[in-house]
Amino acid sequence: MSRSTTQTFTCPCGEVFTSSLYEYVNVAHDPQLRYIVLAGLLNVSTCPICGRRVAIASPFIYSDPTYDLLAYVHPRSDAPEEARMLILERLRSVYMDAASIQEQQKDGNGGHTVSLTPREAEEMPPLQVVFGLDQLTALINGVLPPEERIGRLALSTRSRDEAERGQFMHIARKLATEMGCNIEVEDMPDEYTVWLYGARRRIGALMRELTPGV
Ligand SMILES: [Zn+2]
Repeated sequence: MSRSTTQTFTCPCGEVFTSSLYEYVNVAHDPQLRYIVLAGLLNVSTCPICGRRVAIASPFIYSDPTYDLLAYVHPRSDAPEEARMLILERLRSVYMDAASIQEQQKDGNGGHTVSLTPREAEEMPPLQVVFGLDQLTALINGVLPPEERIGRLALSTRSRDEAERGQFMHIARKLATEMGCNIEVEDMPDEYTVWLYGARRRIGALMRELTPGV
C-alpha cells in the first residue's frame, strides 16, 4: 500500500479542508497514482470552495515494481548542490525504510516491519534520486510503453448553472471511475471543463464508449 498523511489547510478564502500528503507511492497497489504524478498533481491540494491550489513541497518515494522503478523524489528541481549532497547521504536509511515497507506488503498484514535477507534486498530495484517532478515524469515516461503513458480527454459545458455543472461533474466522475481514470476540474465563468486523464489505452476506450459507431 501507498502511505500518506492527512494534512489540514486553511485557504486564503477562509475554507479549511484536509488533503492527503503522500510519502510513499506504490503504483502496483494504487495504479491511479501513476497518472496523478504524471499530471503533476501529486501532493497538490485544491480548495473545494474556490479551487485555489496549494502544492506541498515534500519528498516522497515512488515505486513502480512492474517497471523496476524505485525513486526518491526531492520536490525541488532547484535544490542547491549542498542540499543535494546532504540528501544523498541520508538516502541509505531512507532506502532501508523503503525495503521494510515492501516487506510489509509481502506479508500482507502490514502491521510490523520485517528485515530483508541479503537476497531480498538484492532483488529490489536500484534506488534512483530525482530532483523535481519534471525529472520524475521523464523517468516514468522513459520506461512506460506508449499506451500506458498519460492521455487526456476534456468534457465541457457552457452552462453557468451551478446545479447543472454539479450534475455534469458527477457524470464525468462516474465515467472516470468506471474506466479507471482520474478527473480534474477547470471551473471558468463561461465554461466548465472536466478533464479525464489516465493511461492512453483507457482514455482511448473511453472515447470509443462516448462516440459509438465511429
Ligand atoms: Zn479557497
